[in-house]
Amino acid sequence: MNIRSAPRTLAVAATALLALGGVTACSDDGTTGADPQRVDVVAAFYPLQFLAERIGGDAVKVSNLVKPGAEPHDLELNPGQVGQVAEAELVVLLKGFQPALDEAVEQNAKERAFDVSTVQPLLDAAAGGHDHEGGEHAHPEEPGHEEGGAKDPHLWLDPTRLATVGDKLAERLGRADPDRAADYTTRAKALRVELEKLDAEFTAGLKTCQRREIVVSHTAFGYLTGRYQLEQIGITGLSPDNEPSPQRLAQVAQEAREHKATTIFFETLVSPKVAETIAAEVGAKTAVLDPLEGLSTGGGDYLSVMRTNLATLRTALSCS
Ligand SMILES: [Zn+2]
Ligand SMILES: [Zn+2]
Repeated sequence: MNIRSAPRTLAVAATALLALGGVTACSDDGTTGADPQRVDVVAAFYPLQFLAERIGGDAVKVSNLVKPGAEPHDLELNPGQVGQVAEAELVVLLKGFQPALDEAVEQNAKERAFDVSTVQPLLDAAAGGHDHEGGEHAHPEEPGHEEGGAKDPHLWLDPTRLATVGDKLAERLGRADPDRAADYTTRAKALRVELEKLDAEFTAGLKTCQRREIVVSHTAFGYLTGRYQLEQIGITGLSPDNEPSPQRLAQVAQEAREHKATTIFFETLVSPKVAETIAAEVGAKTAVLDPLEGLSTGGGDYLSVMRTNLATLRTALSCS
């Protein structure tokens, strides 16, 4: 929001120019312009913004393509944002999560992109699922019914994976800005310490619980449930905008009863209606379990929201 205040037409022109002539510097607009002292980083959504800010420190200027309070799965880019991508010194994205951004990067920023999905192999979409579609009480070894062969993008919900992505991001920033490479490495190490502490808190906090199944609105939690031996029952699939069928709602309600769920979780960026319907039907409460796809107006940061999630899970699952 603070990078480009130029009217759309200008941004479009700038983009066209970039595509034609390979112009790299941003010198067309006297009022704003790139900050020559800092690396201009465009982050695809909140957890990547968090990483870039923590690892880049004051050496980077990070902008997030998703507006606060918006849901990132269905990101569409306006011409100004396409211009932003084209002019960024580094674009941090997760390929496959936001197709519009994948396309903009492919066309305008191929050499200046860091795709966090390449750091470690992604889990299969079904790996964290809990699928009963076949009628049997099939458990997570079974392949999922949704998006066959799809990969689960929500890797940031495993703090140790996020730490590893952070290490690689530090290397990538160091290549873009060699003078400060050592600073990036140092900050990535410090962040790793914090993320490993968070991971240890989750491991300890979820070790002994009366229940291990969580009913969630979309199946964003596969990395978290995989790491801490929980199981997710997703009302919708990998993407929150899929409308669940009446059959699916009935199945989830049945599941919730079967696993004696006391809580149906919903998300801050998605309507709680469906979760409320199921909760009312099975006599459960609802609570927020935040997949951290964006920061809600509640504020905080990745670490504090994850700690709130842990407290919420401990209550819902009766952990000791
Ligand atoms: Zn998601
Ligand atoms: Zn079950």
